[in-house]
Amino acid sequence: MEGKRVRVRIAPSPTGDPHVGTAYIGLFNYAFAKKNNGDFLLRIEDTDRTRFSADSEQQIFDAMHWLGLNYDEGPDVGGAKGPYRQSERFHIYKEYAEKLVEKGEAYYCFCTPERLSKLRERQIAMKQAPGYDRHCRNLTDEEVKQKLAEGVSYVIRLKMPYEGDTVVHDELRGDIVFENSKIDDQVLLKSDGFPTYHLANIVDDYLMEITHVIRAEEWIASTPKHIQLYKAFGWEEPKWYHMPLLRNADKSKISKRKNPVSLNYYVEEGYLKEGLLNFLALMGWSFGGDKEIFSLEEMIENFSFDRISLGGPVFDLVKLGWVNNQH
Ligand code: GLU
Ligand code: ZN
Repeated sequence: MEGKRVRVRIAPSPTGDPHVGTAYIGLFNYAFAKKNNGDFLLRIEDTDRTRFSADSEQQIFDAMHWLGLNYDEGPDVGGAKGPYRQSERFHIYKEYAEKLVEKGEAYYCFCTPERLSKLRERQIAMKQAPGYDRHCRNLTDEEVKQKLAEGVSYVIRLKMPYEGDTVVHDELRGDIVFENSKIDDQVLLKSDGFPTYHLANIVDDYLMEITHVIRAEEWIASTPKHIQLYKAFGWEEPKWYHMPLLRNADKSKISKRKNPVSLNYYVEEGYLKEGLLNFLALMGWSFGGDKEIFSLEEMIENFSFDRISLGGPVFDLVKLGWVNNQH
């Protein structure tokens, strides 16, 4: 990782109004990239086609553009530079899932939904933690071949180690230890051939040469699964930064009820983008002095992860109000 060009990304899922958290995480990624002469990528994680909304995708682009958090690259889509979209890359994930099966790091699971729900009922009745019992991990090559030949529907699962720990080394939090035996054999490829978040996210971070993953703390529990995926592929993992979630003034998780969490709100109400950016920046780092508003360039210059408060920065609309309607 040392000596490589810094490359970071935000990877929002276009499933509703773009969340103010996307701007918050976006700003930290952007400032970090620019401070280190690196690249800032935008990747639309639209693998969940049932929750996809085209409107939402457009609003993410608009919000990032409004804030000046412009991404550096994308594939050439009909001559125009577009961002990455996972839905345009499905064939890649399938290939990588199959590679893992060939390497013996993943396996075909032919369990029917009926078997899995019976298993779950049994586990609940016996007060066991629910989870997959790894039944198909022990199928012989012959059995697998036969089921594939019969066209039995399958998912591909990652082989988690039975024992030991996975340590997430978080640059902001230090080491976080997870017991492998408590982590299920994750589904990587679903029965419809679509990838899960875990697979698509890791394959893309690898192919896009992401060096630092800066994302919200809600993803910490996924990280040991991601580290196991890196190991299974034989790839070097990136550096991890899990940012504290924005909180309401009373420290509860921000929600629609207490604060408008949609970025559209700030655009429609005429908030100054500098106001919102400065407010979000102050959640993580302080600039010192008595200057009140900093330009994006000045934020980049002053950027540092050192002063992040892990207690959960408070997203206080009253405080935000001081920049309202001052056009
Ligand atoms: N698609 C995830 C999201 O909606 C990406 C999380 C990550 O950055 O890995 O935030
Ligand atoms: Zn199975």
